[in-house]
Amino acid sequence: MTNFNIKGKVYLVGAGPGRADLITVRGAELLKTADCIIYDKLANPALLTYAGPDAEILHVPKRIGSGSFTQDQINNLLVEKASSGKTVVRLKGGDPCIFGRGSEEARFLVKAGIDFEIVPGVTAAIAAAEYAGVMLTDRNYSSQVAFITGHEADEKQQSSIDWNVLAKFGGSIVFYMGMGGLQFITDQLIKKGMNKETPAAVIANATFPNQRIITAPLNLIDQKCKKGKIGPPAIVVIGDTAASDTELNWFMKKPLFGRSIVITRDHRGNTDFAAKIIRRAGNPVEFPTIKIQPLTNTTEFLQALTKITEFDWIIFTSANGVRIFFDYLQNLAKDARVFASAKIAAIGSQTANRLNEFGIQADFVPGVFTGKDLAKQLIGFTNLKGKRILLLRSQLASDELIDLLQQAGAEVDNVPVYTAVTEKSDCVWLIDKISDGAIDWLTFASPSSVSGFFEQIRPDLINSGNLKVASIGPVTSEQLKKIGVKIDLQAAEHTIDGLLDSLEENEKRKT
Ligand code: SAH
Repeated sequence: MTNFNIKGKVYLVGAGPGRADLITVRGAELLKTADCIIYDKLANPALLTYAGPDAEILHVPKRIGSGSFTQDQINNLLVEKASSGKTVVRLKGGDPCIFGRGSEEARFLVKAGIDFEIVPGVTAAIAAAEYAGVMLTDRNYSSQVAFITGHEADEKQQSSIDWNVLAKFGGSIVFYMGMGGLQFITDQLIKKGMNKETPAAVIANATFPNQRIITAPLNLIDQKCKKGKIGPPAIVVIGDTAASDTELNWFMKKPLFGRSIVITRDHRGNTDFAAKIIRRAGNPVEFPTIKIQPLTNTTEFLQALTKITEFDWIIFTSANGVRIFFDYLQNLAKDARVFASAKIAAIGSQTANRLNEFGIQADFVPGVFTGKDLAKQLIGFTNLKGKRILLLRSQLASDELIDLLQQAGAEVDNVPVYTAVTEKSDCVWLIDKISDGAIDWLTFASPSSVSGFFEQIRPDLINSGNLKVASIGPVTSEQLKKIGVKIDLQAAEHTIDGLLDSLEENEKRKT
């Protein structure tokens, strides 16, 4: 809360090396409560999703040209915002004080009488090395590590790097900001006596799906980087460690590493899906094709709600259905107790997990996740004769589940709680990417996504290239077939995790 009578506080927070979830727990907590977030170029903008709805967010890149900020301007901005009583998070790439000018900002705050706290972050050297299987210390070959800047402050007349010492250092030497002057760095080291065959590695875009690593002897590394068009941000590692066992490069060995995967759910579903792809080292390309619209204002829904205690079983078939239902309950200031003694079934682990968040342990979750399977397994699980069942699901769901339940003697109320409508967005960029061969997979998690996508993009564009199409399950596949799209893969388990497992299996088979 902004309070104009007292001074605020500045938190110098390390954002971590790149990938958003490598921020610390403390850093993420502070982002949630900050009044003002001031972030620079290397801090992953995805971290801003932690920010509260009223937080003021300022981007202060330090590049040349308009819209850029000098260090003085940033220092003054920190003081100005904190002086007006705000809690300020100064979010900086990696660790705030490792070549991050955090020390200058802290000193400026002390002078201005502003309280501050430092939240360390995972610095690029450590993350880049570990995400590339390069072990900076190892009892067999490296008992010391040095972090060096490859780009000394412009105003300095003389370098304070002692090349003589570095050339004889013997352990692992890590250069930050070393790409511009890589030839100079290697020349200096060799001139001062370092063996020109000393292993060197350059790791660019560390922790991201476009991470790259180039290794070469010291005298050839710059040339090889130029040839490979490897650019900043990159970390340069020099020493025996740079020739580390490639078996340890666990991140780039992940089956989905670097794969560009188009995801076509609604915006919220895509956010979830994207996080899962990033965890598997893939590159999510978000293209929402549908919008979820609640149908909780229909008479049908309201009637079902008033007689909800009369049902024996209530069935949720998606996490969306659960969320929309409970959002509505919350608006009525009611909670899970409305279900009284009714038993609850859920299709899919995500649906079951979402129910869990609202304090409900589903009584039945079928092993395979389609409506048909649920019906068959539920019929095997309990006698449904004369039982009253309420289905809370999408308006677009098929009647198959209803038919099967009715055949087993149940009385079924099918009540739509939401529907999906096509969301049209600019698709020229995606068409360009597909045409350029920059997309590996196109995924579909529901028939409505299929319709939404192909209302905007011609199926022949998909069928002609190298790009592959993955479907979450038979109902979605059916819709793809109708449109004439060839399917390369259908998930063995019909959930988002199941779809990703199947993609991984497919990629593994290729290698
Ligand atoms: N405070 C930051 C460093 C800022 S200096 C930290 O602790 O990491 C900027 C330099 O960090 C870049 O020139 C590059 O050498 C390195 N760097 C930052 N992010 C990187 C990344 N994702 N991959 C490789 N190097 C990175």
